[in-house]
Amino acid sequence: MPFPPNIKETALVACKRRCCLCEEHVHIAVECHHIVQEADGGDNSFDNCIPLCRNCHSYVASYNPRHPVGTQYSENELKKRRNNFYAEMNRARSGEGPPRLDPDIVETTPAKLRAFFDGKTDAQAQKQIAPFIGKWMRIEGPLENYSDGSLRLKNHNYPAVLGHVWTHFSGSPWTDILSDLDKGTHVVLQGQIAFVRQGIIQLIYCELLNS
Ligand SMILES: [Zn+2]
Repeated sequence: MPFPPNIKETALVACKRRCCLCEEHVHIAVECHHIVQEADGGDNSFDNCIPLCRNCHSYVASYNPRHPVGTQYSENELKKRRNNFYAEMNRARSGEGPPRLDPDIVETTPAKLRAFFDGKTDAQAQKQIAPFIGKWMRIEGPLENYSDGSLRLKNHNYPAVLGHVWTHFSGSPWTDILSDLDKGTHVVLQGQIAFVRQGIIQLIYCELLNS
């Protein structure tokens, strides 16, 4: 199955239709590759998607472990290359401050998104969640933990209460500011909804609103 249109759109905007490996602008020739193949249990999430040009796609897909020639791209390498490239594509021009991606904020909460899964199959829930993917949402709460561009809010990271919210900050100045915050500091942030699964919400390109 191909990626859902909203996941694909978010990925194509993030890479600006440039290949995440050779960085060439390939316009309509861009292809969304499953990092973990569906036959191997890979899903249609934003995290499992890497936009590539036809040429790089064929290199990534054609490695044959039974007849190894060259060096295979690992899943981790592909994700790191993609994440670095997305960040590079969306980094603010120097001196202009953090990226502002024309947020289209939705009025929702982690609890409301999580409630879509109550008594439903995953496929049914994903259908209802689809309109939220690619939109931005705001969350707030006391800082529980921060490391490596990822922040956890105390009231958003207990499955019994609201489920986990994974946040990703692309770089400075947020990462510098966050490193200085004390545990318990009340934080307000917004991020783009990349995917929602049972109990997990992934927000990307997060920005602090009360720093
Ligand atoms: Zn390429």
